[in-house]
Amino acid sequence: MKEPPLKLQPSCDDDYDPASLTCEEALQRLLEAVRPLDGQERVHLRGALGRVLAERVVARFDVPAHTNSAMDGYAVASADLPAEGIGELRVVGASFAGKPYRTELARGEAIRIMTGAVVPDGADTILIQEKVEERAGHIRFEAGHRRGQHVRAAGEDLKAGAAAFAPGRRLSAADIGVIASLGIAEVAVRRRPRVAFFSTGDELRSLGEPLGVGEIYDSNRYTLYGMLTQLGVDLIDFGVVTDDPAQLEAAFTRAANAADAVITSGGVSVGEADYTREILGRLGEVRFWKVAMKPGRPLAFGRIDGAWFFGLPGNPVSVMVTFYEFVRPALEKLMGTTPRLPWSTPARVTHALKKRPGRVEFQRGFLHRAADGQTCVTPTGDQGSGILSSMSQANCFIVLPLDTARVDAGAMVDVQPFEGLL
Ligand code: AMP
Ligand code: MG
Repeated sequence: MKEPPLKLQPSCDDDYDPASLTCEEALQRLLEAVRPLDGQERVHLRGALGRVLAERVVARFDVPAHTNSAMDGYAVASADLPAEGIGELRVVGASFAGKPYRTELARGEAIRIMTGAVVPDGADTILIQEKVEERAGHIRFEAGHRRGQHVRAAGEDLKAGAAAFAPGRRLSAADIGVIASLGIAEVAVRRRPRVAFFSTGDELRSLGEPLGVGEIYDSNRYTLYGMLTQLGVDLIDFGVVTDDPAQLEAAFTRAANAADAVITSGGVSVGEADYTREILGRLGEVRFWKVAMKPGRPLAFGRIDGAWFFGLPGNPVSVMVTFYEFVRPALEKLMGTTPRLPWSTPARVTHALKKRPGRVEFQRGFLHRAADGQTCVTPTGDQGSGILSSMSQANCFIVLPLDTARVDAGAMVDVQPFEGLL
């Protein structure tokens, strides 16, 4: 008698899985779903670093406010520059940064001028001091200077009335410098999202606790803490929750009530103790839970009450990959700024890479410039999704497309440099 065929399902070790979304589909669904949060506050400029602007920042005056010198030297009128031979002018005063020369220059006159000092009326050109001989109150210089040289025009940085920044701008160090140059001490920024996070797993111990057999320290809460802190959200740490449906359900509900977004790690695959997807479906809705990527295929996205829910896989590298590719862009949308989508650039791979077709793989690499000047990438050791040191040694992901099989040493691959991740 013939045995009935076994009913098997695609596993984590299989590569093609028809139920998985592609990375592009998953990202698109996230970005379509998430909307910027309401709410804003006024903060002092120093507190605005990394925050998202909620208003237009307009220049109230020209920057720079006055036409000034870009060099130390002499301010002259271009009409006094000789067409050929030697020019000679009388030095009638000096203009220092913050101490202008207030009289209009007459023909035949020059003044000494320092970098940043106001160029007086009547002058339109700076002669660098090294190109000038000064003696007995006069300067002498050769022909060949260009009219208007080394002058910074009023408003050449920003014109009065121009918008320096639009709402949604995430303020960098350069940006807060620009705002300071406009004399503005306070800006309106969007409120930060509140993000609750916790780890799930019976095997997890918190730092300071002794480890029993088969137990490990919870590292995901630390990588998440680091990545979320760099992103600039308000954190609520819910600690470790055991693989117990009642405990998990209580934690999901508390986190969703406290936060705008909830991030968990672990328990999202199909093992006996993997309850995340089921509970998410029961308490709220599951928008998707599988992406054709490695590491990180089980990635649950959904909603509980008013909070977005991201159920990341438990493996430490998977947490970082899925955060970078999906969670961060979604949270940036929530923050009201344009999501930073990881961008890629080609590089030559120094070693052969193992891969099976069916999923996009994010291997960890170190991007560098080889002795011959080429941009190269070297894999950072073992690519197991539990090997977090491969991540801390890396400065990029090597992104291998869905259908790629093995990659030979010397082949060109796409890499995504880490931007504000580690
Ligand atoms: P899971 O997704 O729960 O099946 O977990 C997959 C793997 O990741 C297992 O080897 C877990 O022990 C490990 N893991 C889960 N959560 C954490 C965590 N918070 N820190 C470190 N490793 C974890
Ligand atoms: Mg687990």
